[in-house]
Amino acid sequence: MTDLLQIISRLESSGGTLTLDWDRVRYRIPPGNPLASSLLDQLRQRREGLAEVLRARGKGLAPCGRPDCAGCYGIGDGGDLHPPKVSVDWLEWLQKWEPGSSKVQ
Ligand SMILES: [Zn+2]
Repeated sequence: MTDLLQIISRLESSGGTLTLDWDRVRYRIPPGNPLASSLLDQLRQRREGLAEVLRARGKGLAPCGRPDCAGCYGIGDGGDLHPPKVSVDWLEWLQKWEPGSSKVQ
């Protein structure tokens, strides 16, 4: 799961989008972006889990499916962080954990 979330977030950071149309996953990646296409290849090998993640997200749930999670963050060593969704502390939390140097639009 953690791998999958990291791949999805890297793909989206590199300009790709993933949407779920019923149980078909639709991909869009920027043309001529080797990173995005290799990430997409990895996602295709995890199609099953991918649909679940996107389904949870489409319901407004975080990929982990926890109703109180505002969106999971992979932290690189096999763990996930789950920031609380409805909390005044959320922004503080986000600023604390967001990697400072790699904000990608
Ligand atoms: Zn979560």
